[in-house]
Amino acid sequence: MSAPASMNPTADALNANLRAVESTIAEAARAAGRAPADITLIAVSKTHPAETVRAAYAAGCRHFGENYVDEAVQKIGALRDLHATWHYIGSIQTNKTRPIAEHFDWVHTVDRARVAERLSAQRSGDRALDICLQVNIDRDPRKSGVDPDAAATLLTTVRALPNLRLRGLMAILDPTAEPLASYRRLRDLFEHLRPLAPGPWDTLSMGMSDDFPVAIAAGATHIRVGTAVFGARSRAAIGPNEAARNLE
Ligand SMILES: *Cc1c(COP(=O)(O)O)cnc(C)c1O
Repeated sequence: MSAPASMNPTADALNANLRAVESTIAEAARAAGRAPADITLIAVSKTHPAETVRAAYAAGCRHFGENYVDEAVQKIGALRDLHATWHYIGSIQTNKTRPIAEHFDWVHTVDRARVAERLSAQRSGDRALDICLQVNIDRDPRKSGVDPDAAATLLTTVRALPNLRLRGLMAILDPTAEPLASYRRLRDLFEHLRPLAPGPWDTLSMGMSDDFPVAIAAGATHIRVGTAVFGARSRAAIGPNEAARNLE
């Protein structure tokens, strides 16, 4: 499961990558009249071993994104001593909801009621699971995510579930889409849904290595960045999340 050694970034490389990503975030935020501190960097650590995550933590990362349940549960266990926040960003198979509910702090990829109901039922302890609804904003038939027209109905179901705390929306773009237009559509939907939302409706999870400055310009609050932080993944074919589903 570990990447070959040549793929593990050194502490120096991680530091340099992170400082570069942080300065790009700051620049994009200022250009949009926003505070850099209002944008949370989620370092997407899928396929990278626990030691690499630990090195990224030492370099300053506190939020990590993972796509593969078994791999993630192992890493979260190995890194219990860190004060990291774990975000599940992969596609969700109904029979894998329990380990997600038990081990993660956030789930960004809730796109159907049945998954939300299971996550709520399987969450225990006194902390609610923070949730984003994944929206298929480009209506790409190969992508998961709720259709934009069905998002209000899903929201109404999720907000009634006791152990979930609904925070906002997430999207993965169709690679052929024009990112600024798509991200703005997600933000418009987010504002449109605000009157239906229960508590904090404060999260727009959008933007990856190739386009996070554009996402920040459109209002992203959480960006999910893998390659620009850790370097190329050894399983290069693995991308966002329909590719992940094919592997499972
Ligand atoms: C892998 C992944 C990312 C990070 O992609 P990079 O291009 O490496 O930054 C972000 N979001 C999701 C949902 C992913 O699966």
